[in-house]
Amino acid sequence: MHVPLTDLALQYQSIKSEIDEGIRRVFEAADFTNSTWVKRFEEAFAGMHGARHCIAVSNGTAALHAVLMALGIGPGDEVIVPATTFVATAMAVSLTGARPVFTDITPDTCTLDPPKVKKLINGNTKAVIPVHLYGQMASVELLADMLKSRGIPLIEDCAQAHLARRKGRYAGTMGLAGCFSFYPVKNLGAFGEGGAILTDDDTLADELRSIRTYGSAGKFLIERIGHNYRLSEIQGSILEKKLPHLTRWTDRRREIADLYRNGLGDIDGLRLPVIADENEHVFHLYVIQTPMRDELMNFLTAHKIQTGLHYPVPCHLQPVYKKPGYTAGDLPVSERHAKECLSLPMSESHSNHQIQYVIRQIRQFFIDS
Ligand SMILES: *Cc1c(COP(=O)(O)O)cnc(C)c1O
Repeated sequence: MHVPLTDLALQYQSIKSEIDEGIRRVFEAADFTNSTWVKRFEEAFAGMHGARHCIAVSNGTAALHAVLMALGIGPGDEVIVPATTFVATAMAVSLTGARPVFTDITPDTCTLDPPKVKKLINGNTKAVIPVHLYGQMASVELLADMLKSRGIPLIEDCAQAHLARRKGRYAGTMGLAGCFSFYPVKNLGAFGEGGAILTDDDTLADELRSIRTYGSAGKFLIERIGHNYRLSEIQGSILEKKLPHLTRWTDRRREIADLYRNGLGDIDGLRLPVIADENEHVFHLYVIQTPMRDELMNFLTAHKIQTGLHYPVPCHLQPVYKKPGYTAGDLPVSERHAKECLSLPMSESHSNHQIQYVIRQIRQFFIDS
């Protein structure tokens, strides 16, 4: 048996007629960017979250960058981000000229640690970007009041957390803005690139719509520096068709997580994802941790089970960020996590049979070693 990390071809087969019909309509309308289907998707996505505005953009990095631009963040400013995340979180900060300040994660949930964030705040801090890593929300409510009293915006990186909830509230609705990615492998993925921002702030929403289209105000007037961050209609149509399936797909990911927990929960030396109290995890990734990570990964590869590393180098030790003041040992939890993390096959398309095979092989590895 071969078990891939994810299986997008199977997902397409399961909704092919809807997707094909949507794409055909886009071609027939010959209207290819930021139009009817993008608007329909924006309305549906905002509605699902109870948010006032959804601004669809070209990808998740653009979503983060556009919000930081709208806030006027730039050279001399600092933005706090976790060290354990996909590098795009930090890169969006760097694109503005501001400096990403890295904070360590908690060993159990792998999300940022509010008391550690508080210690990093100073007069230059212009935003904090918690990342809802692997599909579980960071404990942002512990930061929200303190940040609000200092006038520091909270921007959620929801690229891995579509429909995740904490204390009954959706990811993307806890701070000033929530930034989503629809990169193909995300829980809601386009067939190419896509992203979106949720916000309840009318002024920010106007700014973001302007930044998305070269800083325009109306048809011919340019009011600020902007970008071309529009979403294509083909992607808008695909996302609009996929959205009604997302709840069902998320439930299936949770079932697979339960299979893993039941099958692997008793193994010494293996740490499974911990779900924080009052969190509804959406399992974008199923990341286990073990000091024998490399050996286990090689064993699974030999048994045709594809695994992933999210992420083997924490952001503060990436060559691009190492120079401005970071060295190994600075953020020990993130650094250990980078050496011990291993992502197991996870998607709504995997069969129980495939997951049971993965569980059997992992159990075999720990019996042998
Ligand atoms: C995927 C991802 C991004 C970037 O999204 P793109 O659409 O690839 O630009 C940002 N942050 C996190 C945590 C991600 O997983």
